[in-house]
Amino acid sequence: MTAQDRPRTCAVHAGTLRTPEGEQSEALFLTSSFAFRSAAEAAARFSGDQPGNIYSRFTNPTVRTFEQRLAKLEGTERGIATASGMAAILSLCLGLLRHGDHLVAAIDLFGTTIMLFKTVLQRVGIAVSFVSLTDYAAWQAAIRPQTRLLFLETPSNPLTAIADIARLAELARQHRCLLAVDNCFCTPILQRPVQHGADLVVHSATKYLDGQGRCVGGAVLGSVAQLEEEVFAFLRTAGPSLSPFNAWVFSKGLETLAVRMQAHCAHAMELAEWLQSVPRVERVYYPGLRSHPQHALAARQQDGYGGIIAFVVQGGREAAWALIDQVRLYSITANLGDTRSTITHPATTTHWRLTPAERQQIGITEGLVRISAGLEDPADLRADLAAALTRLNPR
Ligand SMILES: *Cc1c(COP(=O)(O)O)cnc(C)c1O
Repeated sequence: MTAQDRPRTCAVHAGTLRTPEGEQSEALFLTSSFAFRSAAEAAARFSGDQPGNIYSRFTNPTVRTFEQRLAKLEGTERGIATASGMAAILSLCLGLLRHGDHLVAAIDLFGTTIMLFKTVLQRVGIAVSFVSLTDYAAWQAAIRPQTRLLFLETPSNPLTAIADIARLAELARQHRCLLAVDNCFCTPILQRPVQHGADLVVHSATKYLDGQGRCVGGAVLGSVAQLEEEVFAFLRTAGPSLSPFNAWVFSKGLETLAVRMQAHCAHAMELAEWLQSVPRVERVYYPGLRSHPQHALAARQQDGYGGIIAFVVQGGREAAWALIDQVRLYSITANLGDTRSTITHPATTTHWRLTPAERQQIGITEGLVRISAGLEDPADLRADLAAALTRLNPR
């Protein structure tokens, strides 16, 4: 590994573009389109004989810096920035899949991803089967001759289940389909899916990559062969491209990603260990805990356990809501990966659309609370939760 490849160095330097002005921080090319010096140059750009920018729906220098920096961190050849995480997943699916194709996806996905698969994809004739993230026999059984893509998130939201990426990559290879991993929770600082054999990675940059709750965006990453002709062609034609302004914010976010992830992990670990000892807490889900069913896999596959914790408070929805209403340092929001800690009741927010039976099946109980550990002093985060937990009416 050379200095140029070490994650903390590429997070700061990869994709950097300097203009003759000598700026220290990258310039922001806030422009919708590009002008040509002559009619002949315009023609050459359009025909592709001369490389260069034409229009920011296709390419933009600021967007390219973000794409190259993130691709370098993920260890992929190519990155394509998109207007949101959902736009990344949509571009991946509509770029690569055709009417009649089949996709196998984990049921433990981000709720809107499930909706996208069940509505938009099904409507255009792409069939989807859902399987439990860690049930490898079910993944295998769901594969059909028409299957072209396996899609998962690990760790899962909100219960932090961990899938063995290498094992599913092997399954994908055997059946000549592609494996795509939504790497939103780990970021490339903690997990690089392509190193474990995945073909494609998607991100919601809205979360940790921005890291400060400012912009919505996303990205698809993979090889040039997989992305250029299909996913990029889809993006430039259909148009869910990333704004240069948001790309600039995300590039700045990547520069601090490694130090932020380290702190998110440390704070989450401290909270998770402490929560395990709290009598009102029935169960804690955090991959860093020895009690987590895939702790060993997480230790092998990830370079850290992440900033997301879920736990079950005694007393069901009433207790969970009371806790959420009592805490002061945690924002009540479905967003995560922010400097600010956040707290969520999955059963009535992110997963409210599921039927009670579906929630039961995947373990989203009424007492379940999800926390995204922020960058505040962990002693304060703990004290705030402790105070709220002791105020809950004893049963
Ligand atoms: C938020 C999120 C998305 C969707 O991203 P947006 O930027 O909100 O469109 C996809 N996957 C995961 C795991 C997420 O947390």
